[in-house]
Amino acid sequence: MADNVIKIAYLYEDLMNTYGDSGDVKVLKYLLKKKNYETQVDNISLDHEFDADDYDFVFFGGGQDFEQTVVAKDLIRHKNTIENYVNNGNPMLCICGGYQLMGDYYKTNSGVTIKGLGILPLHTIFKSDKRMIGDTKYMTEWGEVTAFENHSGQTYFDDTNKLHPFGQMIEGYGNNPQDKEEGLRYKNLIGSYSHGPLLKNVNVANAIVKMILQRHEERVNA
Ligand code: GLN
Repeated sequence: MADNVIKIAYLYEDLMNTYGDSGDVKVLKYLLKKKNYETQVDNISLDHEFDADDYDFVFFGGGQDFEQTVVAKDLIRHKNTIENYVNNGNPMLCICGGYQLMGDYYKTNSGVTIKGLGILPLHTIFKSDKRMIGDTKYMTEWGEVTAFENHSGQTYFDDTNKLHPFGQMIEGYGNNPQDKEEGLRYKNLIGSYSHGPLLKNVNVANAIVKMILQRHEERVNA
């Protein structure tokens, strides 16, 4: 593998890709190309083998409840590799349905509880009174972000010492209607409800590119 090839694992690309989330990977490819890196994107789908140690970045997009049910059953095989990758400080971006599945569980509209990976101490519950849909604006450590959200699940952190929000809401809902917080930051993992795609916000995209290049350096020199 040439040193200028960045390897991206796209978890369940064929099932988890709502509202243009694959655009996040396209933005990263574009920015990396400008820095003279090629990008290899592997779709890690049902029954595929996966070792996160082989990658510079892991992406997990959004999906509807049905797809999440299918994916959750398969995903559990990869718990250890994803957990080690994240806890070692490697970069990962999880959007909406993917973000929810990194937590303990998602209790859906139909009362079904989808078991998540349990890597992040958070849970998500459907509440019939509010579908959180519309434009969002929030402040992050890298500046303002504008995006779009569309979800019924409301996410709550179960360990606020470990998990910190990705942003403070200016417009829209984010994790839930009460906390005025968007997504999560844990080490170099970002979880977010933002579609649009999120990485049209070049401030966030550039920050992730930096993380990816650092990880790439460490991986190829290991
Ligand atoms: N099915 C989930 C919800 O409605 C996630 C939706 C999505 O990924 N856009 O909360």
